[in-house]
Amino acid sequence: MFRTNAKTNAEHPQPQLLHNVAIETTGGRASPLLEKGTALPVEIMQLFSTTVDDQRQIIIHLLYGGGRMVEENTSLGKFVVDNIPIALQGAPKIEVVVRVDAQQNLAVTAKERGRRRKQQLGQPINLLDYEVPPYDETKRPQLSAPYQDRTNIRKRIENFLKSFGRPEVIPAPQRIVTSAELSFREAVLGTTKKVEINRLGICPTCKGTGESAGSQRVKCKTCKGRGSFRIVTGTSQVNFIQYKACAECMGRGTLPKVPCSQCGGSGLALEGATQLEFPIPPRITLEQPTRFRLPEEGHMRLDGKVRGDVFIKVQTTRDPNLTLSGDDIYSVLRLNEEQAAHGGTFSVPTIDGNLDVDVPPNVQHGHVIILAGLGAPSGIVVDGQRGDQHVTIQVLRMSAPF
Ligand SMILES: [Zn+2]
Ligand SMILES: [Zn+2]
Repeated sequence: MFRTNAKTNAEHPQPQLLHNVAIETTGGRASPLLEKGTALPVEIMQLFSTTVDDQRQIIIHLLYGGGRMVEENTSLGKFVVDNIPIALQGAPKIEVVVRVDAQQNLAVTAKERGRRRKQQLGQPINLLDYEVPPYDETKRPQLSAPYQDRTNIRKRIENFLKSFGRPEVIPAPQRIVTSAELSFREAVLGTTKKVEINRLGICPTCKGTGESAGSQRVKCKTCKGRGSFRIVTGTSQVNFIQYKACAECMGRGTLPKVPCSQCGGSGLALEGATQLEFPIPPRITLEQPTRFRLPEEGHMRLDGKVRGDVFIKVQTTRDPNLTLSGDDIYSVLRLNEEQAAHGGTFSVPTIDGNLDVDVPPNVQHGHVIILAGLGAPSGIVVDGQRGDQHVTIQVLRMSAPF
């Protein structure tokens, strides 16, 4: 049977939100984020930040229903953004995306602005599993065609964002990516590694203002002094609002009339070599290169308030003589027949340096000498138990003539 599109659409109407999805705001209010009747799927990004210094998490309480106050709605749960880097209040910019697909599945993800890694908040839920308290049906918005829905929801989102004020958009702090090499010994025993970086800090000439002494700041023409651009994109099914910092004024909204001669107006200048030290626990870099993050040791952000992170990829150089298996280290001591017959003291490489080892006379090929406690730490605790080193004797036979 062949059906026309029109008929198919009539039988399978465009899925839409059955109630408002709202967010708890100050005073126990439910501020609609997505309005009832919105065509699905839909996705909305909302920017959050911290309200006190060093705040590590933000809790987002999502609600479902049509009531104005929190208790007049059904709670969809509290979604927690955690591991926010330590920073001054308002400095972290967390983009939270709420997405509802055509099957009414709601998922919340968050990421720090300027970073790629997304954090899924809680488990996805299905809105069909939630009943909502009755609400004033007379205020129920008229369900309209999908295209009109999209316009409505855009206006609604814009109004919602207006009520929160335009988010301040600052370019993300700049990370520094570098690498370091460990010897086998350092990797097995753990170490404190030093790396040298040259990072941007506040320009000493202009103290970060970017201005030449006595110069004034003028409004940035590119962004009309706003510092950011709002980008609204969307298809008939998905609406997405983003804010992007103005590249001309770097999000400041103003430019120096006469820029600083050292930094050219950015307010930031290279500081010269800086040494950073960081601890590497035993063994963790042995299997594969491992990335370490030194929070807020990178380039200074343009507002002079917070630094980006330093990422260090640490690789381990293999040792030609020593191999690790479990907590034990294995090596080979090669003796000729004469040495094996007489025995004696031989130098054996260990991760603690070369060690003189006594070999008894008439030692056999394959004999194993155990050097107790010269293996790897059994955990990542530095002064804990260590395994042993197994030294296998190889007796090299003179190639006897036939
Ligand atoms: Zn300067
Ligand atoms: Zn600008």
